[in-house]
Amino acid sequence: MPDVITDSVSEAVPQTLFDKIQQSHIGELHFKSDTDSQLKAIIAIHNTKLGPALGGCRCIAYPSDNAAIDDAIRLAKGMSYKAALAKVPQGGGKAVIIKPAHPFDRIALYRAFGKFVNELGGRYITAVDSGTSLEDMDEVGQVTPHLSGSNNDGFDPSPNTALGVLAGMKAAALQRYGNSDLHGLTVAIQGIGNVGFSLASLLHKEGVRLLVSDIDSEKLHQARIAFQAEPLAPEQFHAAHCHILSPCGLGGVINSLTLPELHCDIIAGSANNQLSAVEHGQQLHEKGILYAPDYVINAGGLIQVSLGLKRASHSDIVQKTWGISETLQEIFKRAKDQNAPPSTIADQLAEEILYGTALQE
Ligand code: NAD
Repeated sequence: MPDVITDSVSEAVPQTLFDKIQQSHIGELHFKSDTDSQLKAIIAIHNTKLGPALGGCRCIAYPSDNAAIDDAIRLAKGMSYKAALAKVPQGGGKAVIIKPAHPFDRIALYRAFGKFVNELGGRYITAVDSGTSLEDMDEVGQVTPHLSGSNNDGFDPSPNTALGVLAGMKAAALQRYGNSDLHGLTVAIQGIGNVGFSLASLLHKEGVRLLVSDIDSEKLHQARIAFQAEPLAPEQFHAAHCHILSPCGLGGVINSLTLPELHCDIIAGSANNQLSAVEHGQQLHEKGILYAPDYVINAGGLIQVSLGLKRASHSDIVQKTWGISETLQEIFKRAKDQNAPPSTIADQLAEEILYGTALQE
């Protein structure tokens, strides 16, 4: 089994709050506590150079307040980098609600959170994320307009995230095989959820042989009926013999235990934080496995939400999403020219856009 199935990346842990803020280049960190609704929330705004910070709101139980702060900071930074390379006019931000330990009034909680968002005057725009639903966002929308993705606006990001992953897979195939046609390739998908199912549908139409893994046997059954997908046991996913390994479930799939057992040419999926540590990008590069950096290839949902806010047409959104392919082609070319991992090149490109130069870590 993989040693880490988590959404977090191991990094050196700074000692103080201001160390964390400075090391991550976080612009603003806001806290709200409201006793009546049991709201304890953090909003991290990483960077607003390109536009208002856009990023989802998580509501999960954390082992400590520090863990919640770290999550908000890390995710907000990731959103800045994602928006920069997706070329959308947004900054990066993220909200974290520490899930109340006791039974709580959902409507009161999300309205209190909505007031918190509203107090920031539009510098942060919230959205659905792990542990929150469109219904929760409906309550947020009762008290603030700074929201994207509720039952009212109909912005479901997942199908567009899947389209972006397809575009990214084609760029990776072009780089690896000299041909962007996926027909006849074998793709293993982990997680037949919102994104994974849409992706399987798109790949099936491309003539791909599908291997699928999920902890939910009903989803495997649906994928078999709809796409003739062959099931893989969850613990066998990373070692699947395939052309493209596509993590679309949780983060941390590429780690020190799974790396030696990989049998793929390309890794290209929607999951956030696929590398459990930064150095795994270098190790994939040394093994000759082409890695499509997660925050670049999974930007279709952000593109949908960002352009949706501006009432862009469906065809404009689709066109912008296919642009993920061009961005990845540029990253892969630079990576080849510099003999460097694509994950490093992506960070450098994002930092050049955000700061005018790549940062020295
Ligand atoms: P989801 O919850 O709908 O789907 C995740 C699927 O993974 C579920 O079917 C679940 O049963 C399965 N799963 C969980 N643990 C597993 C395991 N150990 N082995 C195999 N399957 C497992 O989530 P989603 O919205 O499809 O998002 C998938 C990933 O893509 C997440 O990492 C998410 O952060 C990322 N992402 C999603 C979007 C989006 O638009 N939804 C955008 C960007 C990034």
